[in-house]
Amino acid sequence: MDVDFAIIGAGIAGVSCAYHLAPRARVAILEREHVPAYHTTGRSAALYTETYGSPAVRAITVRSGVFYRDPPAGFADVPLLSPRGALLFGRPGEADKIDAAYREFHALVDTVRRTDRAETLKRHPLLRPEVVEGAVWEPDAEDMDVAAIHGGFLKGARASGATLHLKAEVAALERRSGKWYVRLANSETVVADTIINASGAWADVLGAKAGAKPIGLVPKRRTAFTFDAPKGMDIARLPIVIDLAESFYFKPEVGQFLGSPADETPSEPCDAQPEELDIAIAVDRIETHTTLTVPRIRNKWAGLRSFVKDKDFVVGFDRDAEGFFWLAGQGGYGIQSAPAMGRLSAALALGEAMPEDIKALGVGEATLSPARLR
Ligand SMILES: Cc1cc2nc3c(=O)[nH]c(=O)nc-3n(C[C@H](O)[C@H](O)[C@H](O)COP(=O)(O)OP(=O)(O)OC[C@H]3O[C@@H](n4cnc5c(N)ncnc54)[C@H](O)[C@@H]3O)c2cc1C
Repeated sequence: MDVDFAIIGAGIAGVSCAYHLAPRARVAILEREHVPAYHTTGRSAALYTETYGSPAVRAITVRSGVFYRDPPAGFADVPLLSPRGALLFGRPGEADKIDAAYREFHALVDTVRRTDRAETLKRHPLLRPEVVEGAVWEPDAEDMDVAAIHGGFLKGARASGATLHLKAEVAALERRSGKWYVRLANSETVVADTIINASGAWADVLGAKAGAKPIGLVPKRRTAFTFDAPKGMDIARLPIVIDLAESFYFKPEVGQFLGSPADETPSEPCDAQPEELDIAIAVDRIETHTTLTVPRIRNKWAGLRSFVKDKDFVVGFDRDAEGFFWLAGQGGYGIQSAPAMGRLSAALALGEAMPEDIKALGVGEATLSPARLR
């Protein structure tokens, strides 16, 4: 098989890039697992929030929200976002921190508000009054339908001619006469002009196969679990609650609560599994800060959120390995940022400039370039 672009990884990064590239080039998506979205993409908390991450992450998220709120006809049969709201609360003594967070977030998202203790408790009556000083209230934070989003990008990419290859683990990469020879573990070879490295936690492992210097990516394990809401309580409209220090969060999840200790434990790239201790820490924090009790864990999982040092995305051609394009460092915001990330990564991979609407929000090519990490 001979293509213009071999995209390695069928998580959200790979399929959203394929969606934008496929109408203009021959694209093959190579995925090691037997299903796409098996790793981090299938394990998220599914929250869309415009106040999370660096200024560049937030700007790219804002541009992605435009797509999610009004996707192209036929992209999905269901709404991609549904109302949730987010309360980022501060503890007593943290008024200044809440004010600072409010000012920072309000500059980009003008619906964000500062709430005092009374309003915070009104918005989330399960919080204990003695642990709350106030909060930043983000009414437009929403739940994402990750399966519909991932499926929409993949379906669109395939409709434009992209091919998806499962159980297609990339074992070796060789550059010869201006082409990449991508050797799969099943002994097949794919020939491509350009490689897009969308391999999530494995991005540096894959980079090494191409002879590229590491970008210093650190996969960090994050744990999540679900538990029952109090009997008879309708929790569907409650917001997500996160403390300002991001040491835990919980939110409604189809009739139950989803909780997390917001852990960031460095890990090798792997099929991440939850640790009992991390779940116990989260349960303790939830029970300390709310009137909830967590009698039983219904479901638990963990996934790897991968970051480089400055926690910004890494998008662009490698300086040394010709035709090798990085699309990595999606961290804790890879789903919410996918539409604009897909669009901008496709543009840069095609040798075009950063899309104007994204640039207008202060995101330059240098901000995301792998060269900044050298
Ligand atoms: C608990 C948790 C909560 C989260 N909550 C949110 C949230 O609320 N909102 C949000 O936006 N984001 C959230 N995230 C982050 C989000 O899930 C990630 O940023 C995103 O899924 C990363 O996507 P990806 O495509 O880069 O990686 P992945 O989904 O991991 O995809 C990479 C793929 O590359 C494949 N691959 C690797 N090496 C090879 C190889 N050699 N050959 C072939 N294939 C290969 C892997 O098999 C994998 O399928 C959360 C993550 C976790 C774990």
